Amino acid sequence: MTQKHIIVVGGGVVGCTTALRLSEAGYRVTVVERNVIASQTSGESSWAGAGIVFPLLPWMYRDEVNQLALAGAALYPQLCKQLLQETGIDPELTLSGMQIKPPYDGVAARTWCDRHQVKCMQVGEDLLLPQVYQIRNPRLLQSLKQLLIQRGVTLLEQTQLCPIQENAELTEWPTTTGQMLQADAYVVTSGAWSFELLKDTALQLNIKPMRGQILLYEMPPGTLPHIVYQDGFYMLQRRDGFLLAGSTLEDVGFDTGVTESARQQIQAKAEAILPSLKGATIHKHWSGLRPGTPENLPTIARHPTIFNLYLNTGHFRYGVTMAPESARRITELIAADFH
Ligand SMILES: Cc1cc2nc3c(=O)[nH]c(=O)nc-3n(C[C@H](O)[C@H](O)[C@H](O)COP(=O)(O)OP(=O)(O)OC[C@H]3O[C@@H](n4cnc5c(N)ncnc54)[C@H](O)[C@@H]3O)c2cc1C
Repeated sequence: MTQKHIIVVGGGVVGCTTALRLSEAGYRVTVVERNVIASQTSGESSWAGAGIVFPLLPWMYRDEVNQLALAGAALYPQLCKQLLQETGIDPELTLSGMQIKPPYDGVAARTWCDRHQVKCMQVGEDLLLPQVYQIRNPRLLQSLKQLLIQRGVTLLEQTQLCPIQENAELTEWPTTTGQMLQADAYVVTSGAWSFELLKDTALQLNIKPMRGQILLYEMPPGTLPHIVYQDGFYMLQRRDGFLLAGSTLEDVGFDTGVTESARQQIQAKAEAILPSLKGATIHKHWSGLRPGTPENLPTIARHPTIFNLYLNTGHFRYGVTMAPESARRITELIAADFH
């Protein structure tokens, strides 16, 4: 039997984990990315994210969102072990725990934690969820990219696919430079840009970019032992001391800029929680475009009319957390169709 060829459109965390799973399932895989995978370019969410491997206040979300997020989080220890062993690049998965400061709904939080066997401790007026991990996004992407290369996955970088039209079958997909890319099946993992690619097909994909800005401080390692969350704002520290604070949630289209007002807001909130940040060096200020969806629910499915086109997109605020499970689910679906 000839090996089926699958093109994955977009090389963010969702595309890379999907490509890895598909290649492990025995498919020939090509990832097409309009920029360079694992580099900070124009707005991709996966590089820009904070890397908290858990939903913020999960009791605020529907069960489907949390099921996907918790299943994704549970796959990370094994995935990161594999990535480190095989590539030598450490994604720095770290058990930081998440400390939630008031205001929060304590009854809802404890009920949810009990129901999902998630440890939750009262520490003064704060709530500590000690099982929450963080991961370092750029390193995660670098190690995924390296593993894909080692596994023989083709990476077609700086190659942008054009929006497609309605069709029963996708036999080839044009790039913006006039190339025609052919495969047996295609998976759209294009994050915030997925709607633009598919809007001329029968699919009503409800995805729009939602910008998030983050400030990066340089602090001595060990300044912040836990991820700290308060009222829509969070901070977390990497092993080498870099401390992230953010993030905004802005509906500004595909604008990937950063703003002085967001910088001031983030600074004020960060300093209120950690006064030693006053006068600390701000090393970087960046933004990323989340693939925003109503209720934070991604689409992991076959296209309703184009039989060899699949979607794994719209993970909004938790794409890093959800990616390994989302990749597992779409691979299972494709494998079932190909048998
Ligand atoms: C500030 C911020 C903080 C966040 N914090 C967290 C967090 O703590 N935990 C968490 O789980 N999630 C977090 N997220 C959300 C998470 O980062 C996203 O849900 C996730 O990265 C989405 O991944 P993706 O691969 O779908 O999208 P992206 O990373 O955006 O990747 C899509 C890729 O598709 C490419 N592409 C688009 N169109 C085309 C085309 N036509 N042809 C070829 N390539 C194309 C793009 O260049 C891009 O590389 C955060 C996001 C932001 C912005």
